[in-house]
Amino acid sequence: MVLVRRDNLKKTDLAFENTESGILSMLEEIQQNLFENAKNLLKEKTLEVTNFEEFKKEVEKGAFLYSPWCGQTKCEEVIKESTGADIRVIPFDAKTQDSKCIVCKNQTNIHAIFARSY
Ligand SMILES: [Zn+2]
Repeated sequence: MVLVRRDNLKKTDLAFENTESGILSMLEEIQQNLFENAKNLLKEKTLEVTNFEEFKKEVEKGAFLYSPWCGQTKCEEVIKESTGADIRVIPFDAKTQDSKCIVCKNQTNIHAIFARSY
């Protein structure tokens, strides 16, 4: 049989007796490939922004914004109301050094990735 991957359109010949192991290992490769692509896209489109004026400008361009946030709902709401962006994820490896929330300027060590959802 011939397997055709939809993520990269590569064709692979596979003997019937190897159906199960061949398909399982290909599914694993596809999963890995999709994950790497998504990770690279996120990295490519993410900008570190520590200033709210710059944040507003960059969000218009469809960027993901990695910014310090104090953790308070009211600051998250200000961001959402004035830019349409909200928190997509708070990365585990976010910086822990002291920064200032882009809205209230309070000290924080939380960094979140913001973006608009469509
Ligand atoms: Zn704040």
